[in-house]
Amino acid sequence: MNKKTQQRRVFVVLLLPLALFFAVAGTVFLFPHENILHLVSFLTALLLSVAIQAAVFQRHIMPNVVELQKFKQIASEQEKGAQMLVRRDLELTRANEQLRKLDEVKSSFISVVAHQLRTPLSGIKWTLNLVLKGDLGALSEEQQTFLFKAYESNDRMIALVNDMLGADRIESGKIRYQFAPLSLLPVIDAVLFELSPLAGAKGVAVQFKNRPEKIPLVRADAEQMRAVLQNLLENAVKYSRAGGTVLIALAAGNREVTVTIKDDGIGIPQEQQKSIFERFFRASNAVKVETDGSGLGLFIVKSIVEKHGGRIWFESEEGKGVTFYFTLPVAQAV
Ligand code: ADP
Repeated sequence: MNKKTQQRRVFVVLLLPLALFFAVAGTVFLFPHENILHLVSFLTALLLSVAIQAAVFQRHIMPNVVELQKFKQIASEQEKGAQMLVRRDLELTRANEQLRKLDEVKSSFISVVAHQLRTPLSGIKWTLNLVLKGDLGALSEEQQTFLFKAYESNDRMIALVNDMLGADRIESGKIRYQFAPLSLLPVIDAVLFELSPLAGAKGVAVQFKNRPEKIPLVRADAEQMRAVLQNLLENAVKYSRAGGTVLIALAAGNREVTVTIKDDGIGIPQEQQKSIFERFFRASNAVKVETDGSGLGLFIVKSIVEKHGGRIWFESEEGKGVTFYFTLPVAQAV
């Protein structure tokens, strides 16, 4: 209701009946009759005025009173709501604090367990290596085969522990990135060199397609970039079939360098592609052919690439292979 309507209503409610009363009463007094008629006229004027007041009250004031009550009720409900919100906010803050503490406990638990595991695992690796090399005496072929299996299993356990530590460090934001202008070429060469025994054992050819002599420097952390390339290339070999080919290529733009890693392996089923970067996710076809794997590698890779200001994505068809792409910003362009 606007101000004018309100003023008009006050006028009607208060002044009009009063004016009417005074008009009638005044008329009676101006022309006095010294008899009962005088009194009757006066009372009639009074009654008329009261009746009009009552009617006006009923019509104009009552709805306002009801509205006012409703308004008061709404206001009180709102106040209760606000109090409840404050209480909920407090509860949420407390719950958040508890979750943060629990997360810290979980994080330090993983960290302690992983570090504790790493030492004996490294010890086992060292010992097995010694025995396998024949430093502790000659081994029969069968002994060698079994010990080598133990060596490989131990290596996988070390990789798993490292992945767990890596994922935890990423989640808790503990990684300190040392960004600097970096050439990807020596990093890729080193990773390819390390990968050759695995690729050789699987009969997979890994090729650096059209390797350029020079490439723009990217803004990156060398160690983390090595982890990214190692993870993607290892996956490409791991999920390739014997006789398969893995291709790596670089493309330099003005602002970013794109790395492509393409394989012709088992691929990723269409309906599971959306989950591929989630923690612990492993596609059903991968679990069948490669029973080992933590499902943490791509989660770590994506996080590292994005921390560099880059993007990562892939294209795949089940049974035909996967092509992973990731970009990194060119150092000068940053
Ligand atoms: P892991 O290889 O240890 O299982 P990753 O996080 O590296 O974990 O990969 C997650 C999943 O993504 C794999 O289990 C697999 O299903 C799928 N994947 C990754 N790379 C490839 C690839 N090159 N070819 C087919 N599937 C892949």
